[in-house]
Amino acid sequence: MTDIQPAGAVAEIDLAAFRRNVELLVATAAPAEVMLAVKANAYGHGMVPISRAALEAGATALAVLEVSAGLELRAAGITVPLFAWLHGTDTDFRAAAEANIDLGVSALWQLEAIAESKASVPARVHLKIDTGLSRNGASAVDWPDLVTTALHLESQGFLEVYGAWSHLADASTADDEIALVKFTIAVEVATSLGARFAKLHLAASSAGLRMPAARFDYVRFGIAAFGISPFDDTDGPGLGLEAPMTLSAPVLAVEALPAGHVWLGGLDVGLAMPATLALVAVGFGDGVQAPAVDRAEVLIAGERRRIVALGVDRMLVDADDLDVTVGDRVVVFGSAVRGEPTAEEWASHADSIGDEIVSSVAVRVPRVYVG
Ligand SMILES: *Cc1c(COP(=O)(O)O)cnc(C)c1O
Repeated sequence: MTDIQPAGAVAEIDLAAFRRNVELLVATAAPAEVMLAVKANAYGHGMVPISRAALEAGATALAVLEVSAGLELRAAGITVPLFAWLHGTDTDFRAAAEANIDLGVSALWQLEAIAESKASVPARVHLKIDTGLSRNGASAVDWPDLVTTALHLESQGFLEVYGAWSHLADASTADDEIALVKFTIAVEVATSLGARFAKLHLAASSAGLRMPAARFDYVRFGIAAFGISPFDDTDGPGLGLEAPMTLSAPVLAVEALPAGHVWLGGLDVGLAMPATLALVAVGFGDGVQAPAVDRAEVLIAGERRRIVALGVDRMLVDADDLDVTVGDRVVVFGSAVRGEPTAEEWASHADSIGDEIVSSVAVRVPRVYVG
């Protein structure tokens, strides 16, 4: 940790570790390019600083989920290709086209809304074929209609048919292989209808790492860049990735307590034996996963210890025989490199996934950037 000493929980983001992850992914995907997925506020890490770091590390495009997030990146001065694919009836397609944000399109109504938006420049669209369980994207039956409508609107100057894409369910390798075949067939169908795609993209972290045939022009890596494995058989460090986010909080009090029912800092706990407990300024309101608490550990005074009680903004931690003082920082999760519990460990204790652990860190927790 650095010498930052805020009063409460802090999520420190190590941009150097993040860039190393992206560099590794860029090297893995090559010659495909990396379109880094920065949705959900870059999985809780902060969209703008993470986007800049990703581009420094060799990503050449960013995937943002909503047009509004793309507009935020443009306002922050980011000029690379941006891709937004989650649209509502209130999506501002005109602003998107005029800000040069590529649009993922999966339904006719979206093509119509783009044409009707009267943007001063044609919108660049990437047509989406449904290749599996995604519930989103044109089915094989609807696909020819989507393609021909898009080509018709292109001939009228409303849009440019630029890419074709889909998203893998990652349910199993066999499912992903089938999806890859469906994708390839859909591209052939579109080509026979006259489409000429400049960019094809299908893979996210999982297929980007382990299914070279799915890499095409872009790999949309997301969670792997945040040091979290998309696989069950290995963790992030096993893939050579490091977690950039460290969630920590200061010790507010340390007390030696008698056996029995005791209170400390508004939390109560039943102690079978006398114990020393540390009150730490982080709780479920900051994003600590309550279901994991019985099994999870934190790093306090260089040791891994159990959480004894959890409240909205504080927790009690076993501090028996530890040299710990008020103000010491306790790490909830961080980097395996420093022996800290990881978000992936927390996920296994909460029957969750690492994506959820890092994305759940509350908005009120300040993000502090280092490296
Ligand atoms: C979330 C998402 C990604 C990134 O997925 P990861 O599994 O986190 O790598 C890529 N593409 C789309 C369309 C997504 O929704």
